[in-house]
Amino acid sequence: GELQGSVATATEAAEKLPTFKGGSLTVRGLGMAYGDLEVLKDIDLDVKAGTVTCVIGPSGSGKSTLLRCLNRLVEPKAGDVTIDGASILTMKPETLRRRVGMVFQQFNLFPDHTALENVMLALTKVKKMPQAEARRIAETRLADVGLASRMDHRPSSLSGGQQQRVAIARALAMAPEVILFDEVTSALDPELVKGVLNLMSDLGRRGMTMVVVTHEMGFARKVADQVVFMDEGRIVEAGTPDDIFERPRSPRLQRFLNEVL
Ligand code: ADP
Ligand code: MG
Repeated sequence: GELQGSVATATEAAEKLPTFKGGSLTVRGLGMAYGDLEVLKDIDLDVKAGTVTCVIGPSGSGKSTLLRCLNRLVEPKAGDVTIDGASILTMKPETLRRRVGMVFQQFNLFPDHTALENVMLALTKVKKMPQAEARRIAETRLADVGLASRMDHRPSSLSGGQQQRVAIARALAMAPEVILFDEVTSALDPELVKGVLNLMSDLGRRGMTMVVVTHEMGFARKVADQVVFMDEGRIVEAGTPDDIFERPRSPRLQRFLNEVL
């Protein structure tokens, strides 16, 4: 009725995103090596459902490899990862792709497909969804991330920020329980960074479970429920943003913060 209509209008700008039902993630004794090079050593991590964990640390410390292990883009050499209690090591690849989404620095969109097609492809290929249903979901997700008017554009005619939103819409379209973000604003022009970070912050507020590798210390400080500092393949320190940024205990973290802040 009329009342409902006016309520919807009052909230529409700020409340565009739906709510999500993020899952929990646990990492136990995770190890990974490229040949002889040990890159992850005995990683333990707990990410509660609906929380945001930011992973920080110097280049080469193993942040990307950790994310890649969480959806088996690379195979862990030791340990286990569970999503809502289910081990990813015994999960079918399609199931894992659906439950754990990932967004990359370089967007990884198909250049010859429109934004809409890029989002639809994930649904029709991985989820084997009929075209019409895939289109409906893709349109909804693109509208959620503010791209309702850009759906028919190819990546080359979108800004970097818009391309990254397409990649986020594509991840969301799978209805994942966890989304992994690997330095997703590092390739963006400075003026486009904030919009993408705001979108990620909204996702976190709306219940998505997120693991975010980032150099954006302001984002980690403000948005993270948990911050993890990695160095040389290990988690050196983990805690709340206050623990990590205001009361860093290890000299390595203190040195790192001195360099980046
Ligand atoms: P970060 O994301 O923190 O910069 P990475 O996980 O990318 O760290 O890399 C961790 C270490 O693994 C680095 O020493 C890097 O050179 C090495 N490494 C990363 N990817 C590969 C690969 N495909 N083959 C061999 N070594 C790699
Ligand atoms: Mg990396």
